[in-house]
Amino acid sequence: MTFGGFRLVYLGGMGRSGSTLAARLIGELPGVCAAGEVVHLWQRGVTDNEQCGCGAEFCRCEFWTAVAGAAFGGWSKVDVRRIADLRASVDRTRLIPRLARRSMPEALRRDLTEYTDYYASLYRAIAGVSGCRTVVDSSKHASLAFCLSLRGDIDLRVIHVVRDSRAVAYSWTTLVPRPEAGGSSYMTRYSPARAAAEWNTQNASLQLLAHGQTPVLRVRYEDLVGGVKPTMRLISGFAGLEVDEPGLAFVGGGARGRWAELRRAHTAAGNPMRFTTGKITIRPDDRWQTAMPASQRRTVTALTLPLLRRYGYAGGSGGSSPRASTVSGDTS
Ligand SMILES: [Zn+2]
Repeated sequence: MTFGGFRLVYLGGMGRSGSTLAARLIGELPGVCAAGEVVHLWQRGVTDNEQCGCGAEFCRCEFWTAVAGAAFGGWSKVDVRRIADLRASVDRTRLIPRLARRSMPEALRRDLTEYTDYYASLYRAIAGVSGCRTVVDSSKHASLAFCLSLRGDIDLRVIHVVRDSRAVAYSWTTLVPRPEAGGSSYMTRYSPARAAAEWNTQNASLQLLAHGQTPVLRVRYEDLVGGVKPTMRLISGFAGLEVDEPGLAFVGGGARGRWAELRRAHTAAGNPMRFTTGKITIRPDDRWQTAMPASQRRTVTALTLPLLRRYGYAGGSGGSSPRASTVSGDTS
């Protein structure tokens, strides 16, 4: 099997699990280009012309203009409505069982090929323009990971980012501005019960993906922020990157605090953290432990208990802190 000159590292998981931080850190590794949440590039970038992570309007960003030229002959040649229709047809959470079985009607298979052709062309062009062999897509949705896994011509490796469901649900109840959309736009909010249900679905789906032929590495947010360098080493090995110590010089610190040095990145869409550059402090965001109402905490714990236990977040009481452990490559 031949791969088209690039390798794709896909970050999957429930939103607000730390995937933006993980993607920014992986994007600092030599030979890696982090492209942001590509699933949202078509609408928010090409159509709505929101800001690239570099600060430029998407359609004025030199990087993305060059990528569009190489992939499609320019953004004007891309039928964004067609991509949206194809996404509605194939890139759906409810289709995951069918995608996992790899059995589907011919019409659906054709849509799937056409839909993922857009992504394959884009990834190839990102690799070409950036000069990086490895492209990171932090789209998160398990359904897109399944769609891409059905192509034989993409060297796909999935990093499944998990975070304590109570922290995730708490984050989904808070108001987060979206500076790139201008005006008073905010990220979507979910009720704790809705966030818990989504957390179960996304995480269980990515575990299902790991049962197939796609390599999947599970990384806990808490282990990433508690040990950036060892986690980056683990991810580098999983992604087939040869990274030596100088290649990890952008992260440092010890018991009293950890930091990373982030450069400007041409990320197409995603969490506002994608605009951050320079030296950042890395510490666990555990505000939920004091700020989350007890009733919400009980609800989310009860709704997500089987996977909370599986990931080491809950003992018998369901309320313990994350245990210290190394990052798991468990694909069971
Ligand atoms: Zn840019």
